[in-house]
Amino acid sequence: MACLDGAKLTRNHRVRCDVVIVGTGAGGAVFAAEAAKAGLDVVMLEEGGYYTGKDLSGDAKFSFDHLYRDGGLTATLGRPPIPVPVGCCVGGTTMVNSGTCYRTPDFVLQRWEREFGLEGATELDNDYAAIEQDLSIKPVPDALYGPQHQRVEDAIKELGWAGSRIPRNEDGCISTGTCAMGCPSDGKTSMAVSKVPEALAAGATLWTRAPVRRILRHRNQVVGVAARAGTPEQPTDLLVTAETTVIACGALHTPALLLASGIGGPWIGRNLHLHPATRVVARFPDEIRGWQEVPQAYNIDEFIDDGVFIQGQFVPPDVQAPVIPGWGVEHRQRMAAFPRLASFGALISDRSAGRVRPAGRSTRPVATYRLQPADRDRLIFGIARTIEAFLAAGAEEVYSGVAAMPVVRSRTELARFERLQPPATQIEIMAFHPMGTVRAGGPEIAASDPWGRLYDVEGIVVSDGSLLPTSNRINPQLTIMALARRAARKLVAP
Ligand SMILES: Cc1cc2nc3c(=O)[nH]c(=O)nc-3n(C[C@H](O)[C@H](O)[C@H](O)COP(=O)(O)OP(=O)(O)OC[C@H]3O[C@@H](n4cnc5c(N)ncnc54)[C@H](O)[C@@H]3O)c2cc1C
Repeated sequence: MACLDGAKLTRNHRVRCDVVIVGTGAGGAVFAAEAAKAGLDVVMLEEGGYYTGKDLSGDAKFSFDHLYRDGGLTATLGRPPIPVPVGCCVGGTTMVNSGTCYRTPDFVLQRWEREFGLEGATELDNDYAAIEQDLSIKPVPDALYGPQHQRVEDAIKELGWAGSRIPRNEDGCISTGTCAMGCPSDGKTSMAVSKVPEALAAGATLWTRAPVRRILRHRNQVVGVAARAGTPEQPTDLLVTAETTVIACGALHTPALLLASGIGGPWIGRNLHLHPATRVVARFPDEIRGWQEVPQAYNIDEFIDDGVFIQGQFVPPDVQAPVIPGWGVEHRQRMAAFPRLASFGALISDRSAGRVRPAGRSTRPVATYRLQPADRDRLIFGIARTIEAFLAAGAEEVYSGVAAMPVVRSRTELARFERLQPPATQIEIMAFHPMGTVRAGGPEIAASDPWGRLYDVEGIVVSDGSLLPTSNRINPQLTIMALARRAARKLVAP
């Protein structure tokens, strides 16, 4: 077991192993643990640093600087531009996510098999179950469940809608309320405290602060990767050659790295899906103290078939402030009511699809994405249903995130809100689930086979959110992990 810091490499270095894995997020870490436990000599390369609870306090500035890529400011280009924050640290985006873990609904998995040739998509039960056990995934317990979610749960029962408590990957969560800033208690079983240590314990090597700049290829065979190490003043090269190269950089960075390395095929970089999402905040007449409960604990499941999934989403005041309407005294008064605020968001199953290309000869992705009118309508529908749930729960005013009507106080106003046809540029939209850019499936319509092995070249496997053929309708990390586990097992025992 070795954990090495690429930034401290003062001389060029060359390593040979069985499997080199680039990226230690949901897809990379699970693959690494599985391969290492099977006895393969595994080297993990991660662009970011290694942080765990002892380094974290919930401080937003520290987290954006150290856990997120580019300070959290990654975004797609298009109308509207959509922020898509991603992690850049050991554990990848699992370090900053909410811990929500769902199996992809059966009807989606059946479609992946039927329409896209993703063989075995409906046979992931064992992989799902193994990850659920390893990461201690279970519904939020009563002790961590609080009034922001309880009120919505009670209200939607009155409305006759379906809903459920969220299963999360946690073992010892103490509800610090700062999931998106990294978990200070290590209660969230992110990859940094679960699968990466598991891989290390099984003999794998991890290089942190070692961004891969090229995939190395000899004729039709990928033979490893070249990473940049050292410091800007004294750069060095870290060369890792391997039988199998696994690219797990996430759905934005994987296609950029492949294309920048001259590895193509018609599907790489296309089919970018995001799950565009909204944020709706409600002010209640009495205190909720939302920071004392798990930020994402309850779902409104009623509209999944319509492609709309609404879930709790409480964030700290410094992140919440920009979506609270008003300015000056009015904004200050609303922020002063922070203990009375609750927040839910809707994510939509986007039919819109974007594209990722590398910026020039670099591996930096440029993602373009244009939101289609039908997806805009779905967002407005999701916002309206969230407002409806909050009003039914007793909220005195609800902040919609839509510039044309930022505050809704009654069902009459909600009816007016639903008649609005705002352009997408006037809706507060973010996205947290990039996927689809190296679609897995049959050779006619996909970049990789069902186990992530690229069709175009030998010796390379993709293992991250890029593989999902379409939006999977719900939070994707568990499915990314299940696909990674089964791909690693395929490599070990073909
Ligand atoms: C705020 C937030 C909340 C979320 N909440 C949830 C949730 O509750 N449930 C859920 O299912 N999903 C959630 N997600 C999404 C989920 O975390 C991601 O879908 C998942 O982590 C993606 O896994 P991945 O393997 O594709 O990529 P990532 O987990 O992003 O891992 C990619 C890794 O590759 C590294 N990397 C990239 N390029 C290079 C390179 N050139 N060299 C070396 N390393 C490189 C990155 O630093 C990173 O560590 C959330 C996302 C965000 C931003």
